[in-house]
Amino acid sequence: MLSDRLQMIASFLPEEAIFADIGSDHAYLPCYVCLNNLSAKAIAGEVNDGPYQRAKRTVESFNLMDRIDVRKGDGLSVLQEDEVAQLVIAGMGGSLISHILETGKDKLGSVERIIAQPNMDAMAIRKWFHLNNFELINEKIIEEDGHIYEILIADKGIPDIPYSEDFIQNEFLFGPFLLQEKSEPFKQKWVIEKEKRERAVSQMKKAKSPDYQKISQFESEIQLIQEVLDHGQ
Ligand code: SAM
Repeated sequence: MLSDRLQMIASFLPEEAIFADIGSDHAYLPCYVCLNNLSAKAIAGEVNDGPYQRAKRTVESFNLMDRIDVRKGDGLSVLQEDEVAQLVIAGMGGSLISHILETGKDKLGSVERIIAQPNMDAMAIRKWFHLNNFELINEKIIEEDGHIYEILIADKGIPDIPYSEDFIQNEFLFGPFLLQEKSEPFKQKWVIEKEKRERAVSQMKKAKSPDYQKISQFESEIQLIQEVLDHGQ
């Protein structure tokens, strides 16, 4: 049975998906999608040998070798130009996901949708989308087995709304759709994030030469988070 997190990601792929799952590990996601949709095709990319071998074994066990190509390599380097229409990168940090997107830009020509599930630092991905003409069209936040996961979905295209700088800062941090919805997992996440920053500030203040710039950044984020938790947007 596929995790709720991966099922949620799968639900944002179109019926006739032709997609890449980068950092696929066991290749559970492409197998699930291809088993449920006979017209879907996928490339499962893996940089590490262990997960690459695992991905191949799962694909072979479902006899899906003609529809899922398992490839070994770093990020988007496993793709040819114009090979896929959707891209999934899940289960890594937001800065690594943004780095993979940035260094693989030449492979994004045919990509209409990117689904990213960062384990942390979703802000880096929202910023990357914004700077690279991918419009965030939806976001989900779910809790599973004590972890909170954010899923960001962006389609190629420039957003109609002219964002102001202030607006961008808040929306980048919290996520525009998640901020609107303010679900229970969202509140849980930001309570935890606020506590993390409070602990960090108290540690930093004890340092011999405190980094006042970082402290001030955390303190304003703590205030911002508190406002969001108290009042909505
Ligand atoms: N995507 C799956 C999921 O969400 O359940 C697996 C996530 S697993 C925690 C992260 C996987 O990404 C690992 O198997 C790791 O080897 C792979 N990975 C990390 N950096 C990568 C890169 N630059 N290119 C391809 N795969 C990478």
